[in-house]
Amino acid sequence: MQPFTYERPADVAAALAAIGKPGAKFLGGGTNLLDLMKVDAETPQHLVDVSRLPLAQISDEEGGLRIGATVTNSDLAGDPRVRERYPVLSRAVLNGASGQLRNQATTGGNLLQRTRCYYFYDPSMPCNKRVPGSGCSALKGYNRIHAVLGASDACIAVHPSDMAVALAVLDAEVEVQSASGQRRIKIADFHRLPEAAPEKDTILGNGELITAVILPPAPPGGQIYRKVRDRASYDFALVSVAAVVETEGDRIRSARIAMGGVAHKPWRAFEAERRLAGAVLSDDAFAAAGEAAVKGAVGRGHNDFKIPLAARTVARALTDAAAQKKA
Ligand code: SF4
Repeated sequence: MQPFTYERPADVAAALAAIGKPGAKFLGGGTNLLDLMKVDAETPQHLVDVSRLPLAQISDEEGGLRIGATVTNSDLAGDPRVRERYPVLSRAVLNGASGQLRNQATTGGNLLQRTRCYYFYDPSMPCNKRVPGSGCSALKGYNRIHAVLGASDACIAVHPSDMAVALAVLDAEVEVQSASGQRRIKIADFHRLPEAAPEKDTILGNGELITAVILPPAPPGGQIYRKVRDRASYDFALVSVAAVVETEGDRIRSARIAMGGVAHKPWRAFEAERRLAGAVLSDDAFAAAGEAAVKGAVGRGHNDFKIPLAARTVARALTDAAAQKKA
């Protein structure tokens, strides 16, 4: 690990001032950044610990919820309002990591965790995300866990967060603050596709701090988070699906679908959602939506299995969400 300096500011203003120092980086719960520093995949010169900022409240706001950036994953998943109104979010967070990690990891940090691509963690291997322009070892290497949607020839990594997939299906917004003011970013726009610059995971600007995640009022319908992983204990998703389905009689009134483990960002399947609106409630409709959700997917060899797996997981999640018949 490279030497670094450390400070723990008491308020947001002090944190924003501190991040201007050379080589500075925000530190949340540290459950990902410290691992990356241990293998020199991240080498900040200065850490600005924001985990104790007074941003650990969950409050009612505009019919939805405002989740402070330092709310731990445990507190988020266990909040009665989240469990009652946004069960897809609570289930996604509970599926994301062990209890010890959930107690430490923060809401803001969860959104900023980096890919678990093996080559990103190995400084002896080329990786465009770690060293821009060095190449992508996964393209011709072992790519079982990699992307099948939205990838580029520069990077085929996937975003690892379960929480972000649920936030995508809920149309959440991310509130950020910098020295020049505050703004809100739709979660769909927050994470980027790799294109030619995979070193940037999000559209955050220099010095911008996540201060909260805003949940709009809960959508009508049943909510489900379904995750497929190699190990039944804790592991990153091979494929995950967050689904919300509203039904009326024998018809599907509306549906929302977000997928994890398949792209560089949580992937909303808008075309599949459009096809379901007004369709007759049936296994065939959900199977067709699953196929639509993976339209255009490209396998790289070891990860070819993800394409049919994602289609089937979407169909299953939609079936389960519809069965809940929550008004
Ligand atoms: Fe690096 Fe992305 Fe290629 Fe993995 S997939 S080696 S993170 S460039």
